[in-house]
Amino acid sequence: VVRASNVKKSFGQNEVLKGINLEVHRGKVVVILGPSGSGKSTLLRTINHLESIDSGSIQVDGVQIGYVERNGHLEEAPYPVLAQQRRRIGMVFQSFNLFPHMTVLENVMEAPVHVHGEDPEIVRKRALKLLKRVGLLEKAGEYPRRLSGGQQQRVAIARALCIQPDLLLFDEPTSALDPELVGEVLNTIRDLAKEGFTMVVVTHEIPFSREVADWVVFMADGRVVEEGKPRDVLVNPQQPRTREFLKRYI
Ligand code: ATP
Ligand code: MG
Repeated sequence: VVRASNVKKSFGQNEVLKGINLEVHRGKVVVILGPSGSGKSTLLRTINHLESIDSGSIQVDGVQIGYVERNGHLEEAPYPVLAQQRRRIGMVFQSFNLFPHMTVLENVMEAPVHVHGEDPEIVRKRALKLLKRVGLLEKAGEYPRRLSGGQQQRVAIARALCIQPDLLLFDEPTSALDPELVGEVLNTIRDLAKEGFTMVVVTHEIPFSREVADWVVFMADGRVVEEGKPRDVLVNPQQPRTREFLKRYI
């Protein structure tokens, strides 16, 4: 589904991604780990073109998001084309990013109705089903500020699912939560993995990663230092930097 090759990205003089290769196959869960500042969020954001790249390429189902081909070379895509390209990519952020002035149900319905122009009645039915699935049907009419962090994050997941994504991107979905609320969000993500969703998850939850990931990528300093099956990278890491990092989280 996702194929990134030799992706480089700088902010000014600061080269944040130094030639990243990443492949995510359909139905697989890839977990990205690494110290703060290693470029994990930037990499995730380049996948749906929330961040542009300086060189290399990223394709999602064969499409280079954010670009269109014209006369044999790539040009920046105009917004409607970008929105169309992103249509099947759901993203969940650390900080929930719900719209505070909209109810839970309105939040979940927003993108399909207002960005993609779907029939509101069809979207409403789907949204209610998704809220039920994340255990929050009874909160449909509430405003986000009246929900716990864990509940808000589950709404954010329902919102990401409502666009009927082929690919889900999670950026540290539990790191803004109180410890007792982490489990409910991880359970929701675990269920999605069991159902076969294709996901890229940036997280520091090592036991969760061991259980759910098909492939683990350890990044440091803008590079992939080590990658492999969870039991190799998390249980039996080969690189000193990976070992050093894991020591702090286990
Ligand atoms: P964390 O675990 O803290 O979330 P991360 O691995 O997600 O870290 P990034 O957020 O990708 O790291 O940041 C990598 C580097 O890029 C950091 O040095 C950061 O300061 C820099 N950076 C990120 N976004 C921007 C931006 N919009 N403008 C300038 N520098 C940025
Ligand atoms: Mg980050």
